Amino acid sequence: MYKIIDGKEVSSFIKSRVKEEVAVLGEKGIKSTLAVIIVGDDPASRVYVNNKKRACEATGIVSREYAMTQETTEAELLELISRLNEEKEVNGILCQLPLPRHIDEKKVIDAINPEKDVDVFSEVNVGKMWIGDYDVASCTPKGVIELLDYYGIALEGKNCVIIGRSNIVGKPMASLLLEKNATVTICHSRTADLSFFTRNADVIIAAVGRKRFVTADMVKDGAVVIDVGINRDENGKLCGDVDFENVKEKCSFITPVPGGCGPMTIAVLMKNTLAVTKKQNNV
Ligand code: NDP
Repeated sequence: MYKIIDGKEVSSFIKSRVKEEVAVLGEKGIKSTLAVIIVGDDPASRVYVNNKKRACEATGIVSREYAMTQETTEAELLELISRLNEEKEVNGILCQLPLPRHIDEKKVIDAINPEKDVDVFSEVNVGKMWIGDYDVASCTPKGVIELLDYYGIALEGKNCVIIGRSNIVGKPMASLLLEKNATVTICHSRTADLSFFTRNADVIIAAVGRKRFVTADMVKDGAVVIDVGINRDENGKLCGDVDFENVKEKCSFITPVPGGCGPMTIAVLMKNTLAVTKKQNNV
């Protein structure tokens, strides 16, 4: 019998812990502030930014929004980041992606002071994660680890297969799983015989971006299946990368979409903002 991993429950738990700590900081006269930059009017980006603002409100973190027009130049954006880097009251900075085409995303991400880079996208922080010397970890992969920890799912010695090798999910996911002493395989679009790897996996983490990509025949009995994907089905309904209805019966644990990994990303963002605030204030 499978168990559903409830990302809403775990993310609420994490946010309530963050809220408590933010309140304790408040008693010491320390505020935690997150600056969120959004450039242009991409509707999905607007939804994400609003969700982040709501999570800040729920945890007591001060959120500041910097909404810039689509025509903003790279120089103007870099100038804002430089100002926020200097501002003592600003603890965390994030720039909502994607950016308009005329702006070099990498340049912008790396312009954020690594001590304030709560998304953990900058090359300095990515490197720190890989060597295991970090204060904050990439939000989505760390969210997956938090889910597994919460449900007491041991990773040591387990055969973990990640499908997807992006810089924001697949690669940092591998680093965090290695830290947990899992044996890690990263698969991607050029992997020959993907099912060979997934059928031998104790834990499958799907981060592909294709609806119902992971099917029941790819999963061994008793596997843990974590679905990071966010897609729309034929009816416009949100769905993941896993054929949930058919795969679930084979699993010991499985995440739904929505309500699995999705809420965790923002919960970890709040945790990261708190962590950098504490570090900057020597708490
Ligand atoms: P990317 O498009 O950057 O990466 C997708 C990965 O899937 C690539 O590595 C690609 O391989 C691999 N892939 C594509 N087709 C196949 C295939 N046929 N077989 C095996 N591998 C394949 O996506 P992201 O990592 O940014 O996101 C993945 C999914 O997770 C998306 O649905 C996204 O919306 C979601 N997401 C969810 C988040 C959350 O908060 N829950 C946060 C971030 C993302 P290759 O490298 O060879 O092209």
